[in-house]
Amino acid sequence: MPVCTKCNSEKSATEFHRNGDRRRPACKTCNNASTKKWRDENPEAYKASKKRSEVKHADRVAERHRRWRAKNPERARELSVKAMDKWRTLNPDKARVASRVQRAKRRAQETQRTLPGHDAFIAAIYKTASGLGLTVDHVVPLNGENVSGLHVPWNMQMLSDNQNKRKSNTFAVAA
Ligand SMILES: [Zn+2]
Repeated sequence: MPVCTKCNSEKSATEFHRNGDRRRPACKTCNNASTKKWRDENPEAYKASKKRSEVKHADRVAERHRRWRAKNPERARELSVKAMDKWRTLNPDKARVASRVQRAKRRAQETQRTLPGHDAFIAAIYKTASGLGLTVDHVVPLNGENVSGLHVPWNMQMLSDNQNKRKSNTFAVAA
């Protein structure tokens, strides 16, 4: 049986931490004790290293979520719509502010993404849509992740609220 280099006791292999394929020279009890000693003597360094590992962990979780979302776009969308609805119900005041901010952002984007000479046509599209109880949607979103669409008639479609909710916010770019 391996012998701990610190306490010199003979212990079973399971009493030692492993470092990849190699067994750590000191036993778990000794290792834990020296880790604790180091923590007690270096509270600031310990806090910093804890913070670093939390950040690293959060990155890994975010990456795992990102991969899951990429694999399950439909489900991810459903869940995010659901979460958003729930948040809106729980935070009606914040939700009102958020939607006001979003509307302002959208208007700014629309202004930025407009080509001259289509105002009358665009106004007609909006008027028709509102007459039909539909929303004007940009086929390629104005603030797409990879591509940004234009606020022009040929990038517009009329959707019902339900269609609009179902529509992905990401626009797939052909590889
Ligand atoms: Zn030991």
